[in-house]
Amino acid sequence: MLWQVQSKGEAPMARLIILGLVVAAVAFVVRRLAQRAARRRDTAAQEEKRFTPTVRCTRCGAYLDRSRALSHADGHTCPEHAPE
Ligand SMILES: [Zn+2]
Repeated sequence: MLWQVQSKGEAPMARLIILGLVVAAVAFVVRRLAQRAARRRDTAAQEEKRFTPTVRCTRCGAYLDRSRALSHADGHTCPEHAPE
C-alpha cells in the first residue's frame, strides 16, 4: 500500500523535474536571445554615432565634426582657423 503510493508519487516527481529542466532551458535560451538582441541594438546605436555630420573649414578645407567646428557668418572653421 505504502509502496504503491510511493511508486505513484515518483512518476509525477520525475515529470516535474523534467518539466523544471525544460522550463530552465527555455528561460536560458530566451535570455540568451534577449541579450543578443540588446547587443545588436547597441552596435546599431554605435554605428549611428560613428557617422556624425561634418562641415568643411572655409580656411583650410578640412572636414571636421560639426560639434567641434566653429560657425561664423561666412561658414564653418576649425578651432585653429577661427577668425579674430
Ligand atoms: Zn581650418
